Amino acid sequence: MSKIYAGDRLEEGCKELAVMLLGAKHAVVLTGAGMDTESNIPDFRGKNGLWRNYDPRVVADITTFRQNYDLFHEFYRDRFSTMKQVEPHPGHYILADLEQRGLIKAIATQNISGLHAKAGNKKVYELHGNTREIYCNSCGKPATEQELLAKQPCRHCKQYALRPNIVFFGEPLPPVVWDSAIAEIKRSDLLLVIGTSLEVSPVNQLPYLAEGKQVLINNEDRSAGYSFDLVLLGSAGDILQRTVKYLT
Ligand code: NAD
Repeated sequence: MSKIYAGDRLEEGCKELAVMLLGAKHAVVLTGAGMDTESNIPDFRGKNGLWRNYDPRVVADITTFRQNYDLFHEFYRDRFSTMKQVEPHPGHYILADLEQRGLIKAIATQNISGLHAKAGNKKVYELHGNTREIYCNSCGKPATEQELLAKQPCRHCKQYALRPNIVFFGEPLPPVVWDSAIAEIKRSDLLLVIGTSLEVSPVNQLPYLAEGKQVLINNEDRSAGYSFDLVLLGSAGDILQRTVKYLT
């Protein structure tokens, strides 16, 4: 049975999380889009999600990329400009500080924003890729962000197939990154899951591999079907800021 803390009792839950972090030898964090909303990147399925205007199964699918490059391009061009302007929020910096202090060992993230690395985390597994690297889906050669944004064809093979190195629905996850994240999570004695609806497979299977304690931080309860010891309902930034006060 999970202990669920929200509202007036949240502080108590944060204290409990701090005790768990101080006692853990190998704590690992798994984040989703809810980790980045306080940096003004909309999530996919939350109340103000990105998918109000676009159907995720369509625009973020490899079939759309292949069959409707214009739609893919329109959606990602807007996302690119949003991503470029964002900065980590206090919650990201707390996770970087926790890694530096040895209180967490690694972050596996579904986010493509790169904000964990920007905040200073060193060991980050980007399970769904990133928007930093651009390449041609047809010949595999690298390209630049400017070429992609200007909707140019590939310099090498002349195909309209430039893309960011992110994982579309219908594509496999990068195998080395995926295997490394699995190894970290299997080794963990504390798994801290932050800001994810746990709807997207295969990442939503990762908590089942953890044999130690598990904690969910999310602003809605997504714990059904999982074995979280602790569920803290609220915003990721606020909960991390409250928790860190007890980590001295
Ligand atoms: P999701 O949108 O399905 O779920 C996000 C969850 O976080 C929701 O339950 C929402 O209520 C919660 N949430 C929102 N803001 C929060 C906050 N401030 N504090 C705590 N909880 C908060 O996202 P997901 O589970 O990561 O799912 C899937 C896909 O979203 C992934 O494929 C990922 O690549 C992609 N995505 C990434 C970004 C990003 O890079 N920042 C943004 C949007 C989507």
